[in-house]
Amino acid sequence: MGEPRYRADQVFRGLHQRRLRSFEEMTDLPKALRAKLEEHAAAATITVESRYLSDDGTRRYLMKTRGGHPVEAVFIPTENRDTICFSSQSGCPLKCDFCLTAKLGLISNLTVGEIIEQIVIVLNDVYGVAGATPHGTNLVAMGAGEPFLNFDNLIKALEILSDPNGLFIVPGRVTVSTAGIVPRIYDFAKLERRPNLAISLSAPGDELRDRLMPINKRWNIDELLTAAKEFERTLKRGERFTFEYVLLDGVNDTERHAKELVNLIERHELRRVKINLIPHNPAEQLDYFPSTRESVEQFKRTLEARGISAFVRRPRGRDIFAACGQLAAKEGPNLVRITSLVGV
Ligand code: SAH
Repeated sequence: MGEPRYRADQVFRGLHQRRLRSFEEMTDLPKALRAKLEEHAAAATITVESRYLSDDGTRRYLMKTRGGHPVEAVFIPTENRDTICFSSQSGCPLKCDFCLTAKLGLISNLTVGEIIEQIVIVLNDVYGVAGATPHGTNLVAMGAGEPFLNFDNLIKALEILSDPNGLFIVPGRVTVSTAGIVPRIYDFAKLERRPNLAISLSAPGDELRDRLMPINKRWNIDELLTAAKEFERTLKRGERFTFEYVLLDGVNDTERHAKELVNLIERHELRRVKINLIPHNPAEQLDYFPSTRESVEQFKRTLEARGISAFVRRPRGRDIFAACGQLAAKEGPNLVRITSLVGV
């Protein structure tokens, strides 16, 4: 627009550091420039449709892109840190049998801006508009969609999110989860500044994984774990990566499955992996049930007995369908809907 360079820096800070949602509010810019920007660009493209508050403090946001595509993000508070779970796609093209988001199919890839806006909206709601950048907020790309099928936009968004003149959420505080898009794992491994990696495994053998996660027919467990090994080689000292394993009652949660999982990890010589066990979050449209507490504990013990770290992920926001695998823009009478929302 023929403006001096520092104006761009002011706009960047306005959008990312001050988390403003309109150019009008950027009072450090001349009025005429603000008007020109409003005319030619958009500071905000996503709108919040509704917000739900769980008994456990988790907040779920149903948003829409300008094109009307649903986007969801979840705010998860814990004692010592907060986590924002954001979406990389509207819907999801993968057909994981235990996941409700899969039922939507792919609606669209989110743009770089749409990925970032979700986080800005949640931060504004939780910490207030233009508040200081909260320290210690973690990000997880574990909402709707397969992040590695929107790779370029995701990586660009994470780069912008880490900018010291913006939100300054550094890669070490970010985790990206993939269902196993193998070529992108190799690409990811080559990145210089990169977030943590989680791989959704959920079965110790191809026959079962083909059924639960059909992406396995494209890249099987052997190919996936070979890529994981390659990624492991690029880890810095003290770093680890994660396998997520959704525990489905009677399907993949028996002693036999736990032992097969250990053998698989040993065969591939994976030494820096930790296992996140995720009790299945049920939904009416899904044919699976959560494992019993005893089988979850037994599964964990079997892994630990063979020297593999395992953690049980506590389900959060189940009452508002905000937990893993439940994001499918579901509204319901049992949901407490909060409409007054500032700064979005
Ligand atoms: N597509 C990516 C990002 C989604 S992350 C991936 O698959 O990794 C969401 C996590 O929730 C994944 O580990 C997925 O396996 C898990 N998940 C899906 N449906 C679930 C359900 N019903 N209960 C518990 N976890 C589920």
